[in-house]
Amino acid sequence: MAQDDYDVVIVGASLAGCTAALLFSSMGARVALLEKRSSMDVYKVLCTHSLHASAMPVLERLDLVEALREAGAVPNYASWWAEWGWITPDHDGTVPFGLNLRRETLDPLLRRRAAAAPGVDLMLGSAVTAMLERDGRVCGVRATHGSKEIELTAPLVVGADGRNSAVAAAAGVRTRESRNLRFGFFAYFRDFPDDDGLSRAWYMGSDCAFSFINEDGIRVIVATPNKADHLAAFKADLATSFRDYIRALPDAPHIEDAQQISKFIGVTNFPLFQRNPSRPGLALIGDAALATDPVWGIGGSWALLSAEWLVDAVAKSLDNERELDAALGRYGARHTRELRGHQAQIRRYARSRRFNFAERLMFSAAARDQQTATHLYRFGTRLITPTQLLTPRAVLRAGKVNLMHATH
Ligand SMILES: Cc1cc2nc3c(=O)[nH]c(=O)nc-3n(C[C@H](O)[C@H](O)[C@H](O)COP(=O)(O)OP(=O)(O)OC[C@H]3O[C@@H](n4cnc5c(N)ncnc54)[C@H](O)[C@@H]3O)c2cc1C
Repeated sequence: MAQDDYDVVIVGASLAGCTAALLFSSMGARVALLEKRSSMDVYKVLCTHSLHASAMPVLERLDLVEALREAGAVPNYASWWAEWGWITPDHDGTVPFGLNLRRETLDPLLRRRAAAAPGVDLMLGSAVTAMLERDGRVCGVRATHGSKEIELTAPLVVGADGRNSAVAAAAGVRTRESRNLRFGFFAYFRDFPDDDGLSRAWYMGSDCAFSFINEDGIRVIVATPNKADHLAAFKADLATSFRDYIRALPDAPHIEDAQQISKFIGVTNFPLFQRNPSRPGLALIGDAALATDPVWGIGGSWALLSAEWLVDAVAKSLDNERELDAALGRYGARHTRELRGHQAQIRRYARSRRFNFAERLMFSAAARDQQTATHLYRFGTRLITPTQLLTPRAVLRAGKVNLMHATH
């Protein structure tokens, strides 16, 4: 049998692809990491840069936390506003936190690490166009590289090529789409007077907004209103609608006292995509497997985590195709198990104009009770599942808190 070119071909050198490349490298694998864009310094523009606490163990495993802190990453301590008031978990070190670092800093840093890792060949300017198949399993890719066409073979191909995954399309993996009633625009601001360094989120039923602190004291201010009430006005006059929307928030950030340092960036249509994460010879990670609603700021963390789940499942089976395909099945099952509950909650909220009963119960209690606030925060960072959020004990406490509040 012909010798494969690599142990793994990874398509897409962003969060998911670079994480997978680094982890495969640490296990001694030969990795081709293909990236369609030609520069080492490209980054994902459409992102608001918050990596949650749930992703920190992966960053620690990659030995990246110190490098990110040196690059200016700041803890993403946050408060959330809902109609019952502000919800602020403990920021005293008892609750793990994530990091905020702009993608223009994070993506090149991660890509450079991956390019320097033993056994990793980063191929910039290589766009994958087709899958190679042998005996019903994916066994490589065809890609354009400048005016040339190249073919690379490996027992495992990884699609880490984002929400519009060309790999998934070429391999015939079906995309399940779910609509999103919100749209979003953001811009960067600096020099907020008396900035307290706390990120903030407003969950106002059908409308949401965010103010995330990043390195260099730069804040990204995000408006994610519902389309029915706001899209026409935003289309007619983006700058005025954006500023009016932000100014109307409870305890609004004083954007008029800060300096706007970017144009507005955003999208008016952002459906959620979900795909089967594996089939023989192929795995999808990051947004290629699940592109969720940005209002929860969790897609980047799941890109890191799904890369880790994949590598842990398959790393010992790369030299045996039968074992590898069984391991890919286990990866797919884990991906579904870990994210199904979260995605169901996120999908429903993306289609709905208000919180459901359970969300109202927990958010209202969290605004009145520190313990529930911290519990809800753990869920928001996806450290615990929806089932763990709604344990009988937590629900009982939330009910009691609200009852006490109503009777006082
Ligand atoms: C408005 C907005 C705000 C967001 N805010 C947050 C946030 O605060 N926190 C958070 O965690 N997440 C956030 N996200 C989500 C986050 O940006 C994504 O989940 C994350 O970037 C996914 O990483 P990825 O590596 O899977 O894909 P991507 O980052 O999309 O990278 C895919 C890579 O594949 C390459 N590629 C594509 N096609 C090919 C091809 N054919 N051949 C070779 N290479 C290819 C691309 O050039 C790219 O480098 C936000 C998303 C949006 C839209």
